[in-house]
Amino acid sequence: MTARKRQKLAAAFAGCKNVIGARATAQMDWASFTIGAWIACMVAFAVGAAGLFLVIRRVFLLWLSARLLAIGALGLTLPPLAGTLFADPQRLLVTRLVATDVSIAFAGALMATYLERALGHQRLRRLFWAIFPMGIALALCAPLFADDFLPLWLHTASVLIMIAMMTSGLVVAIRSASRSAMFQAIAWGPALAVGFVAIYCELVLGGPFPFYAQAMLAALMFEAIVTPVGLGSGFGTVQRERNAALAQMQLATEASALDPLTGIANRRGLKRTFLSGEQRPKGLAVIDCDLFKRVNDNFGHDTGDRVLVAVGAALGANETIFPARLGGEEFVILLYGEDWQRDAEAARRNIPAVVGQRVPDLPFPVTASAGLSAILADDSLESAIKRADRALYAAKDAGRDRSIALTDFRRHFTRLEEVG
Ligand code: GH3
Ligand code: MG
Ligand code: MG
Repeated sequence: MTARKRQKLAAAFAGCKNVIGARATAQMDWASFTIGAWIACMVAFAVGAAGLFLVIRRVFLLWLSARLLAIGALGLTLPPLAGTLFADPQRLLVTRLVATDVSIAFAGALMATYLERALGHQRLRRLFWAIFPMGIALALCAPLFADDFLPLWLHTASVLIMIAMMTSGLVVAIRSASRSAMFQAIAWGPALAVGFVAIYCELVLGGPFPFYAQAMLAALMFEAIVTPVGLGSGFGTVQRERNAALAQMQLATEASALDPLTGIANRRGLKRTFLSGEQRPKGLAVIDCDLFKRVNDNFGHDTGDRVLVAVGAALGANETIFPARLGGEEFVILLYGEDWQRDAEAARRNIPAVVGQRVPDLPFPVTASAGLSAILADDSLESAIKRADRALYAAKDAGRDRSIALTDFRRHFTRLEEVG
């Protein structure tokens, strides 16, 4: 270390001591108390970030915690604590350089891990990561700078390069709408400004920035407060996006259980309701439109579609009937009422009236046939539909426009009975 530099450091060191020793004791205590509280805040924020990591497992929280501890250590090297803690001005300088370099290194790692993954930006992430080894290497070289083995301006220049890398990275990230970069830029803005003013004073005006310690402490406290606000806002956004995605998924799931043409349940919706376990249906009816082909053939597919929509409406859902379209012109209703056969027959008979109302241009009524079956304790949806289908064929064979129920099907013979 040159004699001039040693003199300069000793003067600064004496200045620290003066603040503590020569001035009023009460003033000294308040200054020490303030910086002690400031360091305690940094440690508390660091512990908070590490604690949050245990809950949400995001690595950047660890880097944030490490950075806040490094900033806390930097506080130890500023007056008035520096005067009491460091008897040797050279050790004070080394500690200050290490705390500065390490906190910048951690800032690089913090941004590299904090940047939203959804934005991509692999190269930008690498740029932030590059700051980390640079800062650590610089911190390792701190004794060489303090010993004058390396000139101090080299340290200042290296810090400026890391700050330039960080600033350009943040600008690019903000341009691609990164919320985390925007909040960190705001958080780091005052500390960067204070750093630049200090460097300007040193290099251009040739003297130290007079309120450097106070300004830097205030700027770093600002960072420690704004960073969690950014985190909270980020989590709020993630939470809102998650809720919106869940709502979308819910809508998609519901839509996947609906028949797009008629708006009533499709086969998936039917199965879901059958298995829902809330209440087991007492019976089931397969309902098939009679001679539907002639509607399509004579009036076109669009009219056929309008008829199908009307049939879906005619089978209208209520507390005793759950209608679904199986496909084509075939429908299934789950029946929950005590008099389920009568309910099924009423629904089937409702079809010509509703179709007549909704598709008045059809010159003939559209009727339907139904096959009914009770639902047994060990029935699956498929086994019940299979039996109801047999009854439906019987209804078609018997001349259509009727309901037939399959009864006594557990015996060797089955009995088909017309309903209504
Ligand atoms: P049956 O009384 O024996 O049931 O006679 P059907 O004409 O109703 O029976 P068939 O199975 O021969 O014809 C069913 C017709 O339903 C054939 C097909 O073009 C029509 N179809 C199936 N799906 C749709 C659809 O989504 N829209 C329209 N418009 N027609 C459909
Ligand atoms: Mg048919
Ligand atoms: Mg059919």
